[in-house]
Amino acid sequence: MATAETFDAVKDDKEGCKASILRHARDFTWQDLPLLRYKEQGTTFKDITRQVLFDGCSSVPTALRYFEIAPGGHSTLERHDHIHVVMVLRGEGEVFLGSEVHRLATHDIVHIPGGTWHQFRATAGISFGFLCLVATQRDRPQLPTPEDIECLRQNPLVAAFIRT
Ligand code: MN
Repeated sequence: MATAETFDAVKDDKEGCKASILRHARDFTWQDLPLLRYKEQGTTFKDITRQVLFDGCSSVPTALRYFEIAPGGHSTLERHDHIHVVMVLRGEGEVFLGSEVHRLATHDIVHIPGGTWHQFRATAGISFGFLCLVATQRDRPQLPTPEDIECLRQNPLVAAFIRT
């Protein structure tokens, strides 16, 4: 049975989530959807774009983004309290997750818990695109300190993989 609180939430969603179709244009871009920088600034990433497919509403306070890493590119090596749920849509890549590096293929799904170091890379010669679900209210990512990097590099496989 709906309480007054849930009724209000549904009312709010009429503002935050309108009936609409976001048409796929081509090559994992969508009509009228801006192709954004991965992050506003920084030098901790390379050759990666962001498109915001859904930006949350009161009853679904999450954002769904599509990121695409060009061949040779990578995301930021970071950690944060919020979680990511990632689904690969395009190409192949690799992820450093916690203490291991994993290869990823289309439709693989990655759960990244809070507080876990992570970094994505595109496989050489192939664009790597993935959906990433996050809470709309979330903490800012933390970058590794020199001590963190030294610790992560204890594992040779990780040392060979990470980019800072
Ligand atoms: Mn992250």
